[in-house]
Amino acid sequence: MSKHANRPRVVTTGHYAETFDAHSEEEVYDIEKEGLVRDLLSSLGEDPNREGLRRTPLRVAKAMDFLTSGYHTTVDEVIRGAIFTEDCKEMVVVRGIEFYSMCEHHMLPFFGHAHVGYLPNGKVVGLSKIARVVDVFARRLQVQERLTNQVADSLMAALDPHGVAVVIEASHTCMMMRGVQKQNSSTVSSAMRGAFQDDARTRAEFMGFIRT
Ligand code: ZN
Repeated sequence: MSKHANRPRVVTTGHYAETFDAHSEEEVYDIEKEGLVRDLLSSLGEDPNREGLRRTPLRVAKAMDFLTSGYHTTVDEVIRGAIFTEDCKEMVVVRGIEFYSMCEHHMLPFFGHAHVGYLPNGKVVGLSKIARVVDVFARRLQVQERLTNQVADSLMAALDPHGVAVVIEASHTCMMMRGVQKQNSSTVSSAMRGAFQDDARTRAEFMGFIRT
């Protein structure tokens, strides 16, 4: 049994469930995660029972589930029903998609903007869905390079377009708050597929669209 077993809370929950112990007013969301956060607070020299921290384990557990909800979401779910047959040959670009992710090395946020373009090949997808595809992969523990590639590869697979281009600009709080403590650096990564990789003019046209 874990050392948390004697706490007077006995509710088990599923993802996002919010339940209340019938015998107390104390809400329990995820007993295991909350116990881990309490241990972390103690190991930092904090008192997890002081007033300001009493509900912190619960809040952290909920926040972490939300911030990693991409593990339980697929691109297929997100864009299903939003792919349309369309004889459109022109480049589609959605730029400045705001995203928030967490670096897998420090579990600290990195955030910024994604710019996504594709060249349709008989199929288009609802524009808001492209932003949701970014979230599917951003809401996981990530490295920026993998995030960039996953967005590109998943759109190639889902839309079978002539090409996909993804550029991500991000600020990493693990660099800003610790380590080199460089507040103003940003990291740019790109993934070019199909015509964006093969044809410099196509790539240049995309880069022109996203230039601000
Ligand atoms: Zn990091």
